[in-house]
Amino acid sequence: MTSTPTKRPIYLDHQATTPVDQRVLAAMLPYFTDHPGNPASNSHLYGWEAEAAVKQARTAIATAIQATPAEIYFTSGATEANNLAIKGVAEAYIQRGKHIITVQTEHNAVLEPCRYLESLGFDLTYLPVQPDGLIDLQELEAAFRRDTILVSVMAANNEIGVLQPLAEIGALCRRHEALFHTDAAQAIAKIPLNVQTMQIDLMSITAHKVYGPKGIGALYVRRRHPRVQLAAQLHGGGQERGLRSGTLPTPQIVGLGKAVELGLAEQALEQHRLSESRQRLWQQISTLEGVYLNGHPEQRLAGCLNVSFEGVDGAALLLGLQSIAAVSSGSACSSARVTPSHVLLALGRSPSLAQASIRFGIGRFNTAAEIDQVAQQVIATVQALRSSRVAETLYH
Ligand SMILES: *Cc1c(COP(=O)(O)O)cnc(C)c1O
Repeated sequence: MTSTPTKRPIYLDHQATTPVDQRVLAAMLPYFTDHPGNPASNSHLYGWEAEAAVKQARTAIATAIQATPAEIYFTSGATEANNLAIKGVAEAYIQRGKHIITVQTEHNAVLEPCRYLESLGFDLTYLPVQPDGLIDLQELEAAFRRDTILVSVMAANNEIGVLQPLAEIGALCRRHEALFHTDAAQAIAKIPLNVQTMQIDLMSITAHKVYGPKGIGALYVRRRHPRVQLAAQLHGGGQERGLRSGTLPTPQIVGLGKAVELGLAEQALEQHRLSESRQRLWQQISTLEGVYLNGHPEQRLAGCLNVSFEGVDGAALLLGLQSIAAVSSGSACSSARVTPSHVLLALGRSPSLAQASIRFGIGRFNTAAEIDQVAQQVIATVQALRSSRVAETLYH
């Protein structure tokens, strides 16, 4: 490609998805062309090469979370991993109980499988969160019942970046003999994750939030102490030890492995840099009156900043930023209906404030100059919208 004629907005939506790191792409490319084998073909070199590449990625992912390679099952992403974990456990443990605990601020890829299970007769508890987005451990403790089979609490929130206390939750689950699943789509390779010390039994991950390709993820399923039972949700050729049929996509799997490996190797440095960028952005934006940080100020993803702006229209704010920064709003548009984010409402934000919120997702390739440029545009846009509103009220 040659140079682009017009300047494109700065990409600040890394909680939605990330670009593929060039190093990840380079690792993937040979598996599209030179090494096209099916990892399940055990009668020739092409199959063996592909199988070796898959094995290497599986090991990299297992190592990153202190699991063993046999506990890693490749899926199409975190949505599928969440579905397999939640529905798979529900189906396998139905004789033991029908009660599942989750949280109001979970991603829809957890909430919707839970609602589906409710329609089948399962009992769901949706825990509220505190104003900082963290769950109250005493409320979790009180929610356990004798028939609780599963607790699903995300590692890092995709809208506000808040990090839930996984080790404490894991300990409570163990004490109450319920399995612990965590959706770590936003957390993998960004924060330390250890399925042993955190007593995690199932963990969903995805590549495209951590500079890997879209369409690939994995589910960790504990094999010992306890050995988690899971009912397959896809039936076919019996790949992934019968738990997830379908030809393994070698290039994507190689990409996931490489992305996790890189994220882990550069974790400390990168998170420090992202944290500084986030603070740089917040320091400038918070010179405005009537701005509120959403989520716990420290216990959060380094690159994620979610801010509510009083006295402005959310859609107008997005429009004002559009040419400068690609960011995300605190509302979801589905079929022409704009609904405030369920996460911000769960924090206790009013619908109007929730609607006037922006998620800034800073990533690996953003520069300090870009952060300053976005901050200036945010300040200018908010001031312009507020003064036009003042003018409106003066004339009416
Ligand atoms: C992105 C995301 C998902 C969905 O992951 P896919 O791989 O796109 O299916 C699930 N949970 C969280 C927290 C996410 O951020």
